[in-house]
Formats: sequence, structure tokens, C-alpha cells
Amino acid sequence: GFPDGFDIDGLPTRVLFGTGRRAEVAAEVARLGRSALLVTGRSQAAFVAELEQALGGGHAGTLDGAVEHVPVPLAERARAVARETGADVLVAVGGGSSVGLAKAIALTGGQPVVAVPTTYSGSEMTPIWGTSEGGRKTTGRDERVRPRVVLYDPELTLDLPAATSAASGMNAVAHCVEALWLAPANPLVGALAEEGLRELAAALPVLRRSPRDVAVRGGALRGAWLAGTVLAAAGTGLHHKICHVLGGLGLPHAQVHAAVLPAVTAFLADAAPGAVARIRRSLGVADAAEGLWQLAADAGAPTSLADLGLAPEQVDEAADLVAQAGPAAPRRVTADDVRSILGTALAGRP
Ligand code: NAD
Repeated sequence: GFPDGFDIDGLPTRVLFGTGRRAEVAAEVARLGRSALLVTGRSQAAFVAELEQALGGGHAGTLDGAVEHVPVPLAERARAVARETGADVLVAVGGGSSVGLAKAIALTGGQPVVAVPTTYSGSEMTPIWGTSEGGRKTTGRDERVRPRVVLYDPELTLDLPAATSAASGMNAVAHCVEALWLAPANPLVGALAEEGLRELAAALPVLRRSPRDVAVRGGALRGAWLAGTVLAAAGTGLHHKICHVLGGLGLPHAQVHAAVLPAVTAFLADAAPGAVARIRRSLGVADAAEGLWQLAADAGAPTSLADLGLAPEQVDEAADLVAQAGPAAPRRVTADDVRSILGTALAGRP
């Protein structure tokens, strides 16, 4: 590649951020089409009911079965529902699972997506889709799935449970951290990733004590927006590949990010001194890997893969799958390297 160059594809998503902005969803739908299919999980029933009312005749239906990693049979069912209802807009309400299901529909149907995120996954800002089948996750990039409008309303995140907030927040932290070593020469990515890290590091430990503080929720959500933005710009590498492989083995997505990130950061530190300096600066710590481990611990996120259900005998299979995929990283990565990263994360040591 071009070590001193970078690409910018603009900032293609319309973003409406602020307390109460969920009231604007129906107006945004009306700008894009005639009727909307709501795509959601089961955690936002009150807001979904509010939205169905607000859409009135523009409500084509509600699909509330979103689950992690979009299993292929679910994606196919969702596409059929979208066709039957004749919806020409998709509104995703919820975390990365809801956004992921809407993206799976848009990938083949081409409907514009409006996203109302309620976690910190960042998926709403990316053209990245993913589906899973038989323990393997397939991902790709396609502009058809990139949400056209994203409405961030901190009030919708007040009930996100503490443990989910912490894990999901560390997922956002991981987007910022990996972007820093994947796109070291991109000044826009660098600035946004540092600011995202600052927002997340300030908010996540406080949320543990004050989960219903709207201002702190707003900070975490701004961090998640910046994290999703740099994920879209810089893409995914070694860290995300490890998490996707572990997700395929049945481990929970966001929690895995929290447990793996410090070990990957320690492994890459010597190969990415610029990224490490920026992580240290934004977190205000002396050591990047240790600082990330401490942030996960302070936030109340899991730090050990063993606690998340990874058995030591699964490490070899996972390491081989990661190495075979040849993930992007600032240094060469062998299966042995991944084994050693997973060994560290398995124990969850600082
Ligand atoms: P999730 O969407 O599964 O949500 C986690 C849990 O929190 C669910 O039980 C959900 O019902 C609940 N929940 C969500 N919002 C809530 C709220 N405000 N209040 C109470 N409960 C709430 O988890 P996630 O971590 O947001 O997303 C994970 C998925 O997103 C994975 O499949 C991952 O691969 C994908 N992802 C994709 C991208 C991308 O760019 N394509 C980026 C990040 C994550």
C-alpha cells in the first residue's frame, strides 16, 4: 500500500444526535419512502410501539426476532417478510443485532436503512454486513447496507444493562484502537479515534455507578458514533478477526472484544508505536495494553475468555482459523502468535 497516504470517501450518513431525537424517525422515513418495516430485538417494545403509532399508515410491519450474528435462515425469513409487507424503508431499532438484520434485508432488497441504535456497537455507521451459518461468520462490505440516516437518542440507552453497556462500550473502544493501527497515516481516522477513545474512557466507568445519567449516556453514545465512523473508514484487522472466529464458536460478541483487546494491543505494541502513543494519550495511561485492561475492569466488562466459555482445547482451532484468514495487522501474524494472544486473554491477566 501507500504508508504515507490515505483514502476518504466522505461522511455519507445523515446523523441526527441528541436527547429526544427519536421523535424524528417518522419524518426521516417519509423523506425516503412510503412505508417502513421496523426491525428490532425484544428490548425496545415501548419505543417500538411509540414508533408504530407515529408512522401510522407508513407502518408496513414489525419484525422483532433479531439475534447476534444474523443466522442465514433468519436473514432469509426477514427478506421474505420485507417482500410480503412491501416496505420500501427499513428502520432498525436496537443494538448491532437489529442493525445487522436490517442490513441483511437491504443487502438483497436494496431498501434504504434508518438506524436508531441503542448499544455502542457502531454497526449503524458502517457498510459492513455479516451473517453466520454452521459456526462460521461471513462478512462483507456493500454500500447498500450502510444506513442512510442514523438517529442517536441517549434516552433510549438508559435501560441498557450495566454489563451490556460495559461490554458494548469496549466493542466501541476496540473499533477506535484497531483503526489507529490499521490507518496510521489517516489524519481524520486518527483524530476521530482519539476523540472516541476519550469519550468512551470518560463515560464507561461512570455508567457502572450512574447508568441513568443522560449526559454520561450521551458521551458514551458520541464515542460509539465516532468508533463506528472509524471502523467504516479503517476496516477490520487482527483484533476483529479473532473476535469473529470466537463468535463463530458461540462466545458473545461484545464481551469477547473486551477480553481480547488488551492482549492484541500488547502483541502489536512494538509494531505500531504511533497508535500506542495515541491510545496512551487518549486514555491518559503509561501503557496502552494495561490501560485498556484497566478500562475494561473499571467499566465492569469481562477480561477473561475462560469466563466467557472458551475452553483451552478450542484455542488451537481458533488460532488456525484466524491465521488462515490472513488478517490485516502492522506485523506478520502466525498461528502461534494467535495462540499466545488467546492464551493471555483466556487467563484475563493484565
Ligand atoms: P445486541 O444487539 O445483540 O444487543 C445486546 C443485548 O442488549 C440484546 O439482548 C438486546 O436486546 C439488548 N439491548 C439492546 N439495546 C438495549 C437497550 N437500550 N436497553 C435494554 N436492552 C437493550 O448486541 P450488540 O453488541 O449491540 O451487537 C452485536 C452484533 O452486532 C454482533 O452480531 C456483531 O457482529 C454485530 N456488529 C456489527 C458491526 C458492523 O459494522 N457490521 C459492528 C459491531 C457489531
